[in-house]
Amino acid sequence: MKCDQTEHYEMTFDDLKKAVADGAVDTVLACFVDMQGRLMGKRFHAVNFVETSYKETHCCNYLLATDLEMATPDGYASTSWETGYGDYVMQPDLSTIRPVPWLEGTAMVLCDVLDHHTHQPVPHSPRAVLKKQIARLEALGFEAKMATELEFFLFEKSFDEIRKEGFRNLEPISGYNEDYHIFQTTKEEGVMRPIRNHLYAAGLPIENSKGEAEAGQEELNIRYSPALDCADYHSIAKHGIKEIAWQHGRAATFLPKWDKDRVGSSSHVHQSLWKDGEAAFYDKGAKHGMSELMGHYMAGLIKYAPDYTYFLAPYINSYKRFAKGTFAPTKTVWSVDNRTAGFRLCGENTKSVRVECRIGGSDLNPYLAQAVMLAAGIKGIEDRLELPAATKGDVYEDAKAADIPQTLRAATQSLRSSAFLREALGEDVVDHYTRAAEWEQEEFDRVVTDWEIARGFERA
Ligand code: ADP
Repeated sequence: MKCDQTEHYEMTFDDLKKAVADGAVDTVLACFVDMQGRLMGKRFHAVNFVETSYKETHCCNYLLATDLEMATPDGYASTSWETGYGDYVMQPDLSTIRPVPWLEGTAMVLCDVLDHHTHQPVPHSPRAVLKKQIARLEALGFEAKMATELEFFLFEKSFDEIRKEGFRNLEPISGYNEDYHIFQTTKEEGVMRPIRNHLYAAGLPIENSKGEAEAGQEELNIRYSPALDCADYHSIAKHGIKEIAWQHGRAATFLPKWDKDRVGSSSHVHQSLWKDGEAAFYDKGAKHGMSELMGHYMAGLIKYAPDYTYFLAPYINSYKRFAKGTFAPTKTVWSVDNRTAGFRLCGENTKSVRVECRIGGSDLNPYLAQAVMLAAGIKGIEDRLELPAATKGDVYEDAKAADIPQTLRAATQSLRSSAFLREALGEDVVDHYTRAAEWEQEEFDRVVTDWEIARGFERA
């Protein structure tokens, strides 16, 4: 195995065994994706991995019932202190083996999470949630191809320095809006070039990076792929971006809104369906080149957007991004190539015709986000929902257009009471994520913020 940064890898289990035998790989990261979309797991000595642990390994089952801070909230049916927080099985999906070129002698594999006793997939594990919807779509004869854009900010200082300074005086890596700027992004190539090249060498089909519409804001685009691959790529890329930034003494944040006066970071999701290798969203003779099937799919996406907004905006901070005039949408309407609508039709009149959901923030979990949108699209197809007319102009000012939930509290209520999601994902899965949403709100409600103190300390 070579770790040339510009070579693109497919790595089989046999390739890994050879790389271990000749000493090129000594460490294997066995990872699963948690509720927050993070890679969690263990670092294996590579010999142990290829001899035995490739079959399965184990982790504590609180890892799919925790928050960003690794707390152990009550109220989850799947696990608790009362049940003693047992184990899950992590089963490596050997088709996901890849080198990790930014770490010496290291490879990685993603794992599915299974019940310790039954060896059945844990229903609320993000990979299982997405696989269930992919299977439903396959039963209808379609394959979904998706692309998730990754936006983030790069900062001058490292994560450790920033944390020790109390997350104060945050200085982005550049001094001005760098949307599509080549000169400013040239100054950032010390970090962005290794990000592109290392991720490409890890087998991710990287298309490009570009400056985004704020100082220090970046976007990374990965070529569209089957939905599960797309979510795997997103999680590995997000993880890789943080690690590579860290290696260069910088910090990369996917917090959607780190400054109230600056635009936030999104993760737009491009979606298309395919049948027997042909673009099922394309109909040459139809308006916009959009097939009837695409119309039904989009109608489902739009109708059920309030139900699934939580999965596109899972934290308190996510909702700070939905502001007028910032390119972050607030309305469940669609438009043709218009960036103020929640859903944008792209690739009009071409085989690449697709829908881009612009609601999601950079903090979304790609497995869950894709799963709920597939579920909504499937519902639109099954119920032959009719697509409302496209909106035109500045959608922010369109009083008739429906709003997405504007707070985590409202999104949680929509999730909790969604009959559609309960049917599509399962009661247990909806209850699980409703609890995660409630906990996030409860934690925030306990806190006295700097804003309250500054506002009221003297004047209240
Ligand atoms: P933009 O100018 O909005 O960034 P791009 O042409 O760069 O648009 O495409 C954005 C994303 O859409 C890319 O990641 C690309 O791979 C993806 N994409 C292109 N065609 C399709 C398709 N048919 N289905 C899903 N995603 C697609």
